[in-house]
This record gives sequence, C-alpha cells and structure tokens, in this order.
Amino acid sequence: MKLAVKIPLLVAEHEAAVLDSQSRIANWLYNKLLEQANILRQQYRETEDQQRRGQIGLTLYTERGLRNLIPDLKAEHLFLKVVYSSVLKNAALRLSKAIRDYQDGKHGRRKNTVRWPKFRAWKRNWFSLQYDEPHKGYRLAGRTLTLVLGKEASGKQLEIELGLAEALPHWVNHDHIRQCRIVKEGQIYSVIFTIERTLPSGKPLSPTKVVALDPNHKNFAYAVDSSGKAIEISNPYFLKTLDRRIDQLKAKRDRCRKKARQITRPDGSTLWLPSRRWRYLNTRLQEVYRIRREQTKVYLYTLANRLYRDYDTVGVGDYVPQGRSGFTRKMRRSMHNQSLNRRFKQVLSWVALRSGKYFLEWEEGGSTRTCHDCGYVVEGGIPPEIREWDCPGPGCHRHHIRDENAARNGLTRAFKGVGLPCLGHWQVSSRCTWRFNGLGLEVRRPLTGSATGISPQGIKSLP
Ligand SMILES: [Zn+2]
Repeated sequence: MKLAVKIPLLVAEHEAAVLDSQSRIANWLYNKLLEQANILRQQYRETEDQQRRGQIGLTLYTERGLRNLIPDLKAEHLFLKVVYSSVLKNAALRLSKAIRDYQDGKHGRRKNTVRWPKFRAWKRNWFSLQYDEPHKGYRLAGRTLTLVLGKEASGKQLEIELGLAEALPHWVNHDHIRQCRIVKEGQIYSVIFTIERTLPSGKPLSPTKVVALDPNHKNFAYAVDSSGKAIEISNPYFLKTLDRRIDQLKAKRDRCRKKARQITRPDGSTLWLPSRRWRYLNTRLQEVYRIRREQTKVYLYTLANRLYRDYDTVGVGDYVPQGRSGFTRKMRRSMHNQSLNRRFKQVLSWVALRSGKYFLEWEEGGSTRTCHDCGYVVEGGIPPEIREWDCPGPGCHRHHIRDENAARNGLTRAFKGVGLPCLGHWQVSSRCTWRFNGLGLEVRRPLTGSATGISPQGIKSLP
C-alpha cells in the first residue's frame, strides 16, 4: 500500500531563505536544461546526419538523457554544488518527462496532446525539492527532519534541520518512507512523504465490510456496501452558503478603492494603501475563508471517521473531471469540488493508516454506463440529467438508479482491488442518506411509499 502524507513544516526565516535558494537553483537548472533542449531540438530538425540525430535523440528523448548533462554544468556553474544531487537530478528528470509526454502526444501514444515545455518562473511556482531515493539525503528523527544539501566550496557537507508541525503516526517509521518532497504553497512549507507499508497483518479482511463510493455532481458521493446498504452522501451544503457569502464580500470589497492613499516610506519609496472600507471588508472576507477551511476539514474527517467505524475497506472512484478551457464561475466552483474530492481521498488514506484499515481507488471508466446485472454497456454513455434508467440489454430490463449502479460496479472493482474474491452481483436491500449538519452526520431513511427515496421526476427511459 502506497500513500502520501503531507505535514506542514515549522520554518524560521533563515531556514526559509535556505529552502528558497535551493528551490531557485533547481529551477534555474530546469530552465538551463530547457534552453539546451531547445537548441538540440532545432539541431535535430536541421541536421541530415543520421548519426548526429541519433546522438541528439539519446539526450533529448530518453528518460535520463538530460540528466547526463548535469556533471558538465556543475563544473561550469559552481553554485549548483550547494544543492543535493538527487534534487538536481530530479529537475532533469522532470524536464525529460515533460518532453516525452509531448512526444507521446504528438505520436498518438496518449489521448491528449501536450505542449512542449516552457521556461518556469520561480516566483510564480516554487520548484519543489524532491529526494526520490529511500533514505538518501534526508533523515527523520521524531519531529526533526534533516535535509542534506550540497557541498560548500571547501567541501564541507551542508545540512538543514526542520521541525515537523505534526508527528507521523507511530506505526510509520523511517523505513516505510520511500520519498521525501519539500513544497511551498502560499507561505506554507510542507514535507510530503511517500510511504510504502505492507498491509497490516492480523485479522483477515471481512468481505462484509467493504464500501464503494462513487463521487459525482448531484451528491458528494453515492455509496454501496457489501451488506446491501446504499447511502447517498449529501453535498456539504454549508459550502454553498459560505461561497455565496464570499462572492458578496468580494464584490463589495472590489467596489472599494484598493489604491486609496499613497504614503512615502523613510527611504523615499512610495506605497499605496487601500481604503479603510476595503481593509474592513477584506478582513471579513479572510475570516469567512478561514471558517470555510475549518468546516471543510470537520466535514471530511467526520465522513472518513464514520466510514472507517463501519467498514474495513473504503474504495473511492478515481473521479477525473474533464478539463475544459473557458471557465465560468460555475465551472470553477465545480473545480473546487474536485479539490474537495482530492482532499477527501487524502483524509481517507490518512484515517485508514491511523486505524490499520484499507483505502483504495477503483477505476471509474465505464462504471455508469455498464449495467451491473447483465454487463450490457450503453453505447455513448448515459447523459448526466438521466438519474434513473432501464437497462436496454437483451432480456434484462432492470431498473437502475444511475449512481447506485455505478457504485455497485465500483464495489466489484474495490473487491478486486484488495484481492478478495468477488461474490457475484451486489444487490441493494436498503437505502439511506447521510447529511452533515455542521456537527455530525444525520442518517435519514427515504420516505415510505417511494421505492428509491428519489423523486420520480428524474426518471427517463433511454432512447
Ligand atoms: Zn442489464
């Protein structure tokens, strides 16, 4: 089982300066290699000499070609030596990967096309420091992370010690860590550990305690478990209210003057100050953002804890939304939901690790359009507005609740994912809704008299 754990770092000002400088140098190397790659690409196009083309190809289009340019660059630019070798190597590997993705797109080896890599602006995008070999270049003792940097001109090995804001759980130790990456988001530095841990031994998995979640738009997720229970997990409604509040405050604030007053600093330089009302509204806005972050966290942890209280294994569909250009506000909001989904998976894997249970993602491709009972695949898929459908498969005619059918398929895939034998088709015998009320989860049964608990307006038959 592989998972990533992200922990914020406690970084003092001078440590921040060291990390920034390391990141800046790795970024410089990336751009320097890209500059050389651009020249080689041009030469590759212009030369007729097959042997020369072969040489260039080896540098430009192989996994480690660009990495082999680093020793010469180090000899020429001595400042590269203050960065640990695997961090530099990683800058080269990242660029090679980007170039190979471009090549794969061009030659139809992947679905979407990818652009040739661009120069990276360090100010806009902090270059993460990746230590990708186990136990090389970093040490963890308690809450202290020691990063090995490069060497000083005198040959002295440089190191930096950083404090972790939270400890790793006690059953994860240094030996479980495969990789370590330092990132900076906003003003926060964090470390991301990739952890590989064998499944905890002891009690064998009970096949009655598996649940599969199908995340989607209509609700946060629809779940079906191995005892025949279906759960519709409602969207976090508080987010809608808070988002509306955020929009209102933002609109009000932006009507105020951001450059209201100009002041002159002692050194003669000038600075614009926003108006009082702008500052007041901005403070309120930041406060709503803070509440939003906190409530989201409570929501995700409440859900995850509840799921792992009831189940040994939670499988979530690997929901990949379609990327489109030309974002509207509504689409951005739905993107927000995607990142909520990503965070939910992080929280699940974290809670699973903490409680010695299992988390996995099942492949969602085709799960909606495939009838769980007969395996018939609806050609062209099922439009999103159709919430219930009757299977047109020969001799089947089963009535499906869209998300439930997808989650039942997910349950089969989740079983395969943990290596359990799959016991035929999953049937649903009861349905309920989980709704977060700000404190905990309310469990509601569907109204009696309705077979599904879902209003019949959504029922349409497929053409
Ligand atoms: Zn069918």
